[in-house]
Amino acid sequence: MAEEKKRKPAVGLQPEGEVDWSSYEGVLVIVEQRAGQAKKVSWQLLGESRRLADKMNTPLLALVMGKDVSHLAKEAIYHGADKVFLCDDPELADYRTRPYSRVCLQVIRDYKPEIVLFGATYTGRDLAGAIATHLPTGLTADCTQLDVDEDRLLLASRPAFSEKMLATIMCKQFKPQMATARAGVFEALPRDESRQGEVIPVAVHLGTDETVTQVLEFLEQRDRVNLEDAEIIVAGGRGLGGPQGFKVLQDLADALGGQVGASRPVVEMGWISHDHQVGQTGTTVRPRLYIAAGISGAVQHVVGMQNSEYIIAINKDPQAPIFKTANYGVVGDLYEVVPALTRAILAKKGRSVPVEGSRAASEVLPGAPAR
Ligand SMILES: Cc1cc2nc3c(=O)[nH]c(=O)nc-3n(C[C@H](O)[C@H](O)[C@H](O)COP(=O)(O)OP(=O)(O)OC[C@H]3O[C@@H](n4cnc5c(N)ncnc54)[C@H](O)[C@@H]3O)c2cc1C
Repeated sequence: MAEEKKRKPAVGLQPEGEVDWSSYEGVLVIVEQRAGQAKKVSWQLLGESRRLADKMNTPLLALVMGKDVSHLAKEAIYHGADKVFLCDDPELADYRTRPYSRVCLQVIRDYKPEIVLFGATYTGRDLAGAIATHLPTGLTADCTQLDVDEDRLLLASRPAFSEKMLATIMCKQFKPQMATARAGVFEALPRDESRQGEVIPVAVHLGTDETVTQVLEFLEQRDRVNLEDAEIIVAGGRGLGGPQGFKVLQDLADALGGQVGASRPVVEMGWISHDHQVGQTGTTVRPRLYIAAGISGAVQHVVGMQNSEYIIAINKDPQAPIFKTANYGVVGDLYEVVPALTRAILAKKGRSVPVEGSRAASEVLPGAPAR
C-alpha cells in the first residue's frame, strides 16, 4: 500500500515559520459611517469592546475612515476609545471595498491589534471578508455574543444551523482575531465629552489599483427601512389580520417619527417586506420605544427587541407572553387602541391630521379579526 502522503497546508493558510504574535495588542473597532454620520452599531461595538479591552488590560482602538470625518474620531473617544486612527481622504468619500480594505490592512499591519471588530452591516461584512482573506486570519460573521478567555482568545458566538444552535468560534493560530457583530445586540456607553483620547492621523497612498472602481451615483433606496438605527419602532404581528393593517401602524409611526416593524409570520405571508422583520431571523433592534401591536411575544421575536428602552404591548389576550417583556401593556383591540394613540399624539403635537378610526380600519380590512 502506498504510504499516505502528508498533506501540505494550502498556500497562504498557514503562518510561515514561527510567527511571534506577542507584539499584537489592543481591540480595534472599525467605525462605519455614511456621509459623515456614524452607524449606531459602531458605538454599540465600542461599548462592548471597552469591556473586552478592560478584561484583557489592553487599549481600545478605533479606526475612522472617510472624507471630512474628523468629528467622528472625537465621537469615538466620547464613546469609549483610547486611541483613534483617522484616515481622512477624498478618495474615501464613498464606500468601495478596495480603498477601504487598503486602509484597514495598513493600520492592522502597522499597529497589530489582537482583535478587530466590525458591524455586521452590508459594508462591514464586505470589508471584513476582504481583509481576513488578505492577512490571512479567521473571521466569525454576525456574532451576537463576544467575550475573551484567560488566554486572550476571542470567544465569538453566533446562531448557527438555522438559528437552532449557538456556536462559539475561536481563532487560535492567527492574529488579529476578527468578527462582525450584529447591530442592536450590544449597548453603547453613554456619550461622555470629558473622555480623553489620542487621535492618530493615518496617511495612505491609494494607487490606481485601489481606486479602479468609481461610484457614479448613489441612489438612496427610499422604501427600505433601517430598523437598526430607528429610535421608535411600531411593530405589528398576525393580530393585524391582513396587510392593510400596517396602514394603521404607519399612521402611528409617522406621528411618532418612527419606523414600522413586523413579526415573522406576517413577513412570510407577504404582508410586508423582510427588512421590517424583527427577531432572531430578522433584525435585532434597540430603539428607545418599541410598540408591539398584535404580537404574541414568542421567544424568537422577543430576542430581537427585548433590549429596547421602553416596550409597550397592545394585545387583546391578557395572557399573551409579550406582557412579560413589556414595560406598559394595553389589553385591547389594536384597531381601537392604535388610532386612539395616534390621535392623542397628534393632538399633543397640535396637529389635527385625520386618522383612520377603528371602524374605517376594519372596513378596509378583509381579514380583520372579528371583535
Ligand atoms: C427558527 C425560528 C426562527 C424564528 N424567527 C422569528 C423572528 O425572527 N421573528 C419573529 O417574529 N418570529 C420568529 N419566529 C416565529 C415565532 O416563533 C412566532 O411564530 C412568531 O413570532 C409569532 O408571530 P405573531 O406574534 O405575529 O403571531 P401570533 O403568535 O399568532 O400572535 C398574534 C397575537 O395577536 C393578538 N391579536 C389578535 N387580534 C388582535 C387585535 N385585533 N388586537 C390586538 N391583539 C390581537 C393575539 O392575541 C396574539 O397574541 C421564528 C420561529 C422559528 C422556529
